[in-house]
Amino acid sequence: MSSIHILEHPLASHFVTHLRDEDTKPSLFRSLCKRLTTLLAIEASKDLHLTSKIVTTPLEEITGHVISEPLIAIPILRAGLGMLDPIVEMFPDVSVGYIGLERNEQTAIASAYYAKLPPRIGGLTAFILDPMLATGGSAAHAVSLVSAAGISTIKMLCIVAAPEGVQHLQQAHPTIEIYTAALDRELNDKKYILPGLGDFGDRLYGTY
Ligand code: URA
Repeated sequence: MSSIHILEHPLASHFVTHLRDEDTKPSLFRSLCKRLTTLLAIEASKDLHLTSKIVTTPLEEITGHVISEPLIAIPILRAGLGMLDPIVEMFPDVSVGYIGLERNEQTAIASAYYAKLPPRIGGLTAFILDPMLATGGSAAHAVSLVSAAGISTIKMLCIVAAPEGVQHLQQAHPTIEIYTAALDRELNDKKYILPGLGDFGDRLYGTY
């Protein structure tokens, strides 16, 4: 059954509050996005499998544990790119795929204009990176593409989620695990999250 994990940590509240502030400039915005993604990655990797590894410290031999699971990170273009660096930093062996989605203005249905997933990814654990889970339409489409590629363990990492998006995604993909730094109140009539932080991609890249 699907579940939602909301970061409960003073650092997460601190970073999200500064991220929301309309006076926060793109350089700080990018840095806060990275810090929050690091916290999300820590939470989302709590149940990764470990294998034993014998190492020798300068003093003696010890049996330690290392992550043995191959991982794939899939940022959703373009805002998800802001979350990629900390994931690669934390998991240097991660494979990276990319999905670009657009929404039909009339039907509001999402479709992919770009999808590049590494070969032989069946059985891997995937982190889909999309900072704003708003209607959930794009996220649900991305998860469909990733599960069609053979991935069964999919974790959605976002910075801010709306209840509407969470519900949509959970209905479309009952086993999805959602990790978010904040669960906000609602969507407005333009499908922006309230209180939210505005357009994430525009704030990340200074294109507002
Ligand atoms: N995407 C954004 O960037 N912001 C929102 O509030 C909703 C979707």
